[in-house]
Amino acid sequence: MQNTPDSHAILRVRGLSKQYANGHHALHPLDLDIKRGEIFALLGPNGAGKTTLISIICGLVNRSSGTVTVDGADNVDQYKLARRKIGLVPQELSADSFETVWNTVRFSRGLFGKSPNPPLIEQILKDLSLWDKKDNPLITLSGGMKRRVLIAKALSHEPEILFLDEPTAGVDVALRQGMWSLVKKLRSQGVTIILTTHYIEEAEDMADRIGFINKGKLQLVETKQDLMRRLGGKTLSLSLAQPVDALPGQLVALGLQLSPDGLQLLYPFNDREQEHDFSALLAAIGQAGLGITDIQTRERSLEDIFVEFVGAQA
Ligand code: ATP
Repeated sequence: MQNTPDSHAILRVRGLSKQYANGHHALHPLDLDIKRGEIFALLGPNGAGKTTLISIICGLVNRSSGTVTVDGADNVDQYKLARRKIGLVPQELSADSFETVWNTVRFSRGLFGKSPNPPLIEQILKDLSLWDKKDNPLITLSGGMKRRVLIAKALSHEPEILFLDEPTAGVDVALRQGMWSLVKKLRSQGVTIILTTHYIEEAEDMADRIGFINKGKLQLVETKQDLMRRLGGKTLSLSLAQPVDALPGQLVALGLQLSPDGLQLLYPFNDREQEHDFSALLAAIGQAGLGITDIQTRERSLEDIFVEFVGAQA
């Protein structure tokens, strides 16, 4: 598949599979290489296996077969070494602790055997707009603030790879933007980022490469640019002055389609592949006696591609 072995990979997954105790195959054997310093977005519908994959890589769930190597360290035989290189931001904050933000984050760093570094913790809390909350107990924080504490904890031991599992679910727009600017800053510092998200437009904005997982199978791994070039495209929509029942044959021959309500002419095209003579198209529409009141073009988004892709595999 498109996921060719990469000698610069910081993370190597080989033949990884998972069958849960109840017999459910959550992951079928899969290979994946993550390049050092990239932002990789793992997309897939609910129950696709995203969290299972991340949990196995981070050593939280046992694999059924396969290997995971984190920057050269096997995540089972050299668990501590591998785990130290990883920061994990889970979906939920597990404890509503009475501990303060500062102590929680400081303690997290200690868990990984790193010596105290108050200036680093201060910087992380400032980057996450949590500095003014540093003495507040976690239990008094809002949901969005708790999520930021999770990120601060994951960054406290200076990981080389950061996993973000649905980082912006239920987070307001301003905070979401702040989170993404932090992710970009971390990438510029050389941190490799792997995220799962249901907000496909976020993957479209942020990711260098996209992986689609569905029913436990990694169905596609491709750079975002290649994916958009290959499967992206545009549709020209022309609103008709009067609805029509059917299109004249000469317009169908030009590639025009009629919308189901008979109110629009649709012309799908891909300007990356070929040039189009829109003036000839408009002239032919005029000759057919159809009046046009509005013209729009719409680019297919990653979401359109994703929905079609998952639908086609269903
Ligand atoms: P979501 O987007 O909803 O978070 P996901 O892609 O992260 O979904 P997983 O949580 O990895 O999906 O779940 C994959 C499949 O494995 C699902 O069908 C889920 O019900 C099943 N599953 C997860 N954990 C267990 C478990 N402990 N025992 C049995 N089945 C499980």
